[in-house]
Amino acid sequence: MKTIGVLAFQGDVREHLAAVEASGAKGVEVRTAAELAQIDGLILPGGESTTISKLARIFDMFDPLKATIASGLPTFGTCAGLILLADRILDGIDGQETFGGLDVTVRRNAFGHQTESFETNLAFKGISGPDLVAAFIRAPIIEQVGPEAEVLATLISGAVVGVRQKSILGISFHPEVTGEFRVHRFFIDSMVSA
Ligand code: GLN
Repeated sequence: MKTIGVLAFQGDVREHLAAVEASGAKGVEVRTAAELAQIDGLILPGGESTTISKLARIFDMFDPLKATIASGLPTFGTCAGLILLADRILDGIDGQETFGGLDVTVRRNAFGHQTESFETNLAFKGISGPDLVAAFIRAPIIEQVGPEAEVLATLISGAVVGVRQKSILGISFHPEVTGEFRVHRFFIDSMVSA
C-alpha cells in the first residue's frame, strides 16, 4: 500500500488524511525529516502559506522539504499548498518564501476576502466523469505558467486553477472539503509509485 504524508504544521490536515484513506492509501502526518523519508508521496494542505513556511523554518524542515520536492518526491499542493510549490508569488508578505518546484507565478488571495469564497463545478484534465465539485477559499490564481508546466483546470473566466509539472501537482481549490476525492485518487494512482 502507498504511504502518503500530509505536512502537518497548519491547515486542513485531517481532511486530507481522510481523502487519502478514502483513496485506498495510508495517510500519515509529516513534521520531521525522519517522517519525510518514509513516504511515497507528499500533500501540502490548504491553510495559510505564510504560517506553514514560517513553521517549516522554525522546525528545520524548510530545506529538507525544498530538497525532497526538488528531488522528485510526488507532491500535491492545494491552495496554500499550491502557493508553497510556486517558483514565483504575487501579493505575498514581505520575504515570503516558497519551496518551489512549479514553474508558475501564483497570486495569493486573488478572489478577495474570505467572504468571497465560493464553490463551483470544474472539468479537470485526466479525470473523467462529471465535473469536480471545487471549493475556493481565499484562493490563489495561477497567473503565469512556464513551458514545463501543464494546465489541468481553468475556471470559465479563463483563470488557471490546476497545473502539473512532472512529479508536482498544484490546485487552487480544496477538493478535500467537498468530499471530492478524485484529485487525490488521480495523484495517488497516476503520480505516486509504491
Ligand atoms: N490565502 C491563503 C494563503 O495565502 C490560502 C487559503 C487556503 O489555503 N484556503 O496561504
